[in-house]
Formats: sequence, structure tokens, C-alpha cells
Amino acid sequence: MFTLEKLVRKNILALTPYSCARDEFKGRKASVFIDANENPFGTLNRYPDPLQEELKARLSAIKSVPTERIFLGNGSDEAIDLVYRVFCEPRIDNVVAIAPTYGMYAVAADINDVEYRPVPLHDDFSIDADALLSATDEHTKVIWICSPNNPTGNALERRDIEHVLDTFQGIVVVDEAYSDFNDMRPFRLDLDRWPNLIVLNTFSKLWASAAIRLGMAFASADIIALFNKVKYPYNVNQLTQEQALRVLDDMQHISLWRAAILRERAHLLPAVAELPICTNVYPTDANFFLARMTDANAIYHYLVEHGVIVRNRSRIQLCDNCLRITIGSQQENNALLSALRQYR
Ligand SMILES: *Cc1c(COP(=O)(O)O)cnc(C)c1O
Repeated sequence: MFTLEKLVRKNILALTPYSCARDEFKGRKASVFIDANENPFGTLNRYPDPLQEELKARLSAIKSVPTERIFLGNGSDEAIDLVYRVFCEPRIDNVVAIAPTYGMYAVAADINDVEYRPVPLHDDFSIDADALLSATDEHTKVIWICSPNNPTGNALERRDIEHVLDTFQGIVVVDEAYSDFNDMRPFRLDLDRWPNLIVLNTFSKLWASAAIRLGMAFASADIIALFNKVKYPYNVNQLTQEQALRVLDDMQHISLWRAAILRERAHLLPAVAELPICTNVYPTDANFFLARMTDANAIYHYLVEHGVIVRNRSRIQLCDNCLRITIGSQQENNALLSALRQYR
């Protein structure tokens, strides 16, 4: 049986959250706002909506998730940090994660003084669900899963993730920052099935809005209520909320970008695979891919000299001699290819 209260830190369960002026005034129409010590002049003089209700209503329709199951934060990074602050007692609790994966899970664990237990993927980057479960003990509060995974690019087997969700009695975070780039069923549509599931999405990748810092978490209304209790009162600023609404007004543009990126990906992968300095290109379900090279460090520095920056992942577990390459514009991809073709 899954009991959320047992997983939450006692100080967070007992917490009385800060109540801001706009929280206390709810409902009725008003035209005079002299409750929050704002300056009555200017254009960005008012505090933003602390719960981003207009934006959540729009996202609810797009993502097919009810508003009370949506959290918005200052990038996915805020949601990642909140998972630790809500569930993990420093120096007592631990978390388990696939390895290699997105570096922020480990950094946020270190900042929160929580033990981080990396569990290697198989050599083909598939998930080892039983090894993940075996790494847990009575102090494990969270399992981190990223699919499609960064930096490997592959989506993990859904049945294996489901097995972890079914078996583990703590929180399972499925980070789907890149799920917009494939046609698999996203986990956010299955929140009813798993009260222990938290799904992460972001405005930073396909939605082309990394600069505004806006991340989404989807989970049970009870988990979202805990996030709302702990977050900074005005965690998503007014400019970000307004720009996000503009992005959502033009979803057609986003599907055109998606098609363009997938088209470029279909050209770039085989072209890199064909190079004599490339020994393997790994299959990808995201807008980037991992390429194993003859000498990743030398090739990385050569590319830097030619003004092309890729991500050198060669020091990461299972990724020796690997470069992580983002699918750019046609022009950017051609610049990469022509530089690589001239490498001696
Ligand atoms: C890029 C990325 C994110 C997005 O983080 P933001 O803070 O929302 O920009 C989240 N998870 C993974 C795995 C990523 O690669």
C-alpha cells in the first residue's frame, strides 16, 4: 500500500506555508489593490499569480492533465530540487537513479545532503529495473528515471518503468523532457494508475523557450499540494507567464519545428555514422544523439577550434569516447559535418 504521508519529511507535513496577499484575497471582483505594498505606478508593478492559474488552464488542455495535478517552476530544476526538499531527510534518506543520466539529480542530492545511488544501465543503455529495485532500502525515498535519457538519447522500455512504478513503494520520477520528440505514450497520461508517479516536462526543448525558465511537474493533487506549500510564493515571474501564454498561442509553429528537427536528425545521424572517425552512433528518441568516436577528446577540441561546440561526454560512465550532439538548424548541422569531414 502506498501512503504518501509516510514518505514526506515531518517538518514539511507540519509546515504552515507563507500566505501572500493575493492568496488571502480569493474570488470576488475588486478594482482597488492596496494589500501587497506594491507601487501603483508602472507596468510590471504587481506581483504575479502565485499559482499561475491562467497558464495552468491552458496547459491542462494541451497536456490532458487536470490543473490540480500541474506544478510550474523555475525550470525543471526547481521541481527536481523540490523532490528532495519535500521527501528526503538530509543524511538519513537516499535516492536511486539510472546511470549515466541528467546531472542535476546528483547535484541537487549533494546540495540537499542526500545520498545518491547511481545504478548503471546495460551496455546498450537499456534500463536494468531489477538492479534499480535491488539498490533501494528502507531509506530510499525516490527513484530517478529519465526517458528518453540524457545523455544516451534512447527511450527506456515502458514495461520496465511500469515494473519499477508497480514495485517500489516510494516516489518514482520519470523525466520526460524529451518525450515531445517521439510518439510513445507519455507517462503523464497515467497518473491515475500510480499515486507515486511524478512526471517532468519542460518549455526548454521542443517548446523553444529555455530562456524563460519554465518547467512542469505532473503528479497526484496531493503531491502537487506539497510542492505548492514548499515553493517560493512567486516562483514563476510575470514575464515568463506572459511569454509562455504566447508560446501556447502558436502550437502550430512548434509542430513545424518538430518536423524540421526530426528531418534534420534523419540526415545527420547516418552522415556522422559514415565518418571514418566515428565508430558508433546510438539510436535516439530525442533531439540529440550520442556518437562514439575514435578520439573524442581530440575531436572535441578540434571542433572548438572551428567554432562548433558539442558536449564531450567521454569521461562519463559507459560513454567513453562519446560526444553528445544536439540536432541544430540545417546550417549548423552542415557546419558540424564539414568540420568533421576535414578532421585529420
Ligand atoms: C534539458 C533537460 C531538462 C530541462 O531542464 P529545465 O530546467 O526545464 O531547462 C530536464 N531534464 C532533462 C533530462 C534535461 O536534459
